[in-house]
Amino acid sequence: MRDQRYDVLFEPVKIGPLTAKNRFYQVPHCNGGGYRDPSAAAAMRGIKAEGGWGVIFTEQCEMHQTSEITPFIELRLWEDKDIPALRKMSEAMKTHGALAGIQLAYSGVNGPNFYTREVPLAPTALPIRTFTNDPVSARALTTKEISDLRRWFVNAAKRSKSAGFDLICLYGAHGFGIFQHFLSRATNQRSDEYGGSLENRSRFVREVVGDIRDAVGDTMGITLRVSLDETIGDLGFSNAEVRDFIEMNRDLPDLWDLAHGTWEDCSGTSRFKEEAAQAELVKGIRELSSKPVVGVGRFTSPDVMVKQIRTGVLDLIGCARPSIADPFLPKKVEEGRIENIRECIGCNICVTGDMTMSISRCTQNPTFMEEWRKGWHPEVMNAKGASSNVLVVGAGPAGLEAAWALARRGYDVAIAEASGELGGRVVRECRLPGLSAWGRVRDYREYQLKQRGNVEIYLESALSADQVLEFGFENVAIATGAKWRRDGVARQHVVAMPIADGAKVYTPDDLMAGDVPSGKVIVFDDDHYYMGGVLAELAASKGADVTIITPSAYVSDWMRNSLDQGFVHARLAELGVEIVLNRGVTEIGAGSVTSNCVYTGRTQVHECDAVVMVASQMPDDMLYRDLLAREADWTDAGIRSVKMFGDAEAPGPIAWATYAGHRYARELDGPDRGDALPFRREVTELSAD
Ligand code: ADP
Ligand code: SF4
Repeated sequence: MRDQRYDVLFEPVKIGPLTAKNRFYQVPHCNGGGYRDPSAAAAMRGIKAEGGWGVIFTEQCEMHQTSEITPFIELRLWEDKDIPALRKMSEAMKTHGALAGIQLAYSGVNGPNFYTREVPLAPTALPIRTFTNDPVSARALTTKEISDLRRWFVNAAKRSKSAGFDLICLYGAHGFGIFQHFLSRATNQRSDEYGGSLENRSRFVREVVGDIRDAVGDTMGITLRVSLDETIGDLGFSNAEVRDFIEMNRDLPDLWDLAHGTWEDCSGTSRFKEEAAQAELVKGIRELSSKPVVGVGRFTSPDVMVKQIRTGVLDLIGCARPSIADPFLPKKVEEGRIENIRECIGCNICVTGDMTMSISRCTQNPTFMEEWRKGWHPEVMNAKGASSNVLVVGAGPAGLEAAWALARRGYDVAIAEASGELGGRVVRECRLPGLSAWGRVRDYREYQLKQRGNVEIYLESALSADQVLEFGFENVAIATGAKWRRDGVARQHVVAMPIADGAKVYTPDDLMAGDVPSGKVIVFDDDHYYMGGVLAELAASKGADVTIITPSAYVSDWMRNSLDQGFVHARLAELGVEIVLNRGVTEIGAGSVTSNCVYTGRTQVHECDAVVMVASQMPDDMLYRDLLAREADWTDAGIRSVKMFGDAEAPGPIAWATYAGHRYARELDGPDRGDALPFRREVTELSAD
């Protein structure tokens, strides 16, 4: 059973009229499914209930049609019709004694209302503030409309109660919720009783909390989510003002939920933010109120959690990403199995699912958002099929995940890896600046595999087709990964770009192997995810004079989806890296690079000593192709199946590889589904009229 030092994490905490069974608090988080995938989202929350969380929240729920954030897909509670889908979620949340919470969001100056076409309403008329600088404006709420808005909150609270929720979170954080818009002098420039002094700026939230308490407060707890600092200087709702506000309204909500800054600040990636990064901003706030305080900080270590409680910083441990990476985190602490916690790596791939309006994935937990769609449980595998053993070739994230999942199904697994260590690309990438936490992808799986009696690991075993045929495993899983291309093929160049003899061209694999060029180095980034930016940082930190050239308008463009693109740009600028945007590379000479403007085509020659080519990756599928060529020999060798997946099939982010490995393991020996859709989905019911 659990170590006594963690007992404190299992103490109950009162939240208004209710009591959370422990201090594990899943703060609201998006999942990219929202109103489009209600059953998938509900099942995901249900898994967290099973995993032992004491409080489980929805993502943000748009509580009135006059404020919504299309294209992002969250929840909606606009009319009674929305209640059944939300009830399904609250019921799933409550299955194991957790409190079910709903986050009510009115997006004010952050909601462009593209879908409802209503004119956005905010404390002060300003252009809408979104990631995409949408060309629409909010108009200022009249006093009469403020009282309408109060009533809409009450209506939403009553509907939340009908939908079965225990807690209501009023969203006033991240610049997304109207409570912050009222509280901050930046977004509230009113001169009536709702603007000016802090007392006046907090009037709206005081009124709404009072109204909701009158309506449902006898049975429901009310929490208020605010940012610890708006991070825009003195004009914004600064940490000092947040403290004044809490002191002035000591016991206003039943719980203070402390987020931080913008979403980018709050959900910082591990590359830029440590675990418990917000501790200094939170410290002391608990003493300002008699109500409990929850805060976040990508907490994965129960020791760090205990410290937060023991030192009086927090009462409840808020987790979004750690609860995604391991929905069973509380259970594992409770049962004394902390070595089995699958720690979040802080990559924000989960966030990219929301930002791309797809459905979220998790690098560490491939079952995330597949709990209902595919029936995948993070802790339970399907029963073993007809065959009995599998040879997994390649021990990158795809091979490791496949081996671990197959072993749990009960197969005898051998994993052969060409190099001297497990982890594949993760071994190399976690040595890059800021990416050490990514090593957890390997650490978790390596540890798990080494606990199993049915797994054999063979290092320094680069296998050929002959060897695979000789071994005679029934199933062969090829996860041999990919290598970065040197020839520049990616998006600008779909065939090899002109590269002169004698040009010094390095690939990311060269740099990751320790061969880092010096002198004047040009990084050409036509990949657009983290690799270009991180290698520019690596070379610059080793003293090279680095220029990064990219055809995109942003350095590390795709990282806008993982919320850290701005941090990459800032870091490179601080390191003195020259950032050249909107330019491609037409050719590489010996000692120079010719770039071209993506709009005008105008070229420019840049002298350099070396080029780092961050283009695309080429699958390493030779073994697979060799085996396919020998298909006639499979039966004699006892082989029933050969399958390739992960980067060897189609290179992508690490999350794609763990997912592919997991899927292979789930589906081995499964029925041939023919042309059927491989997952469940919900289709909107057609109206009768
Ligand atoms: P993925 O992300 O798909 O898991 P990686 O590139 O991270 O891919 O890992 C692939 C692993 O496969 C690498 O560690 C590589 O050394 C190993 N590998 C490649 N070819 C062979 C082979 N023929 N035999 C054994 N291991 C191989
Ligand atoms: Fe953590 Fe990455 Fe999973 Fe998100 S996707 S929960 S950041 S491991």
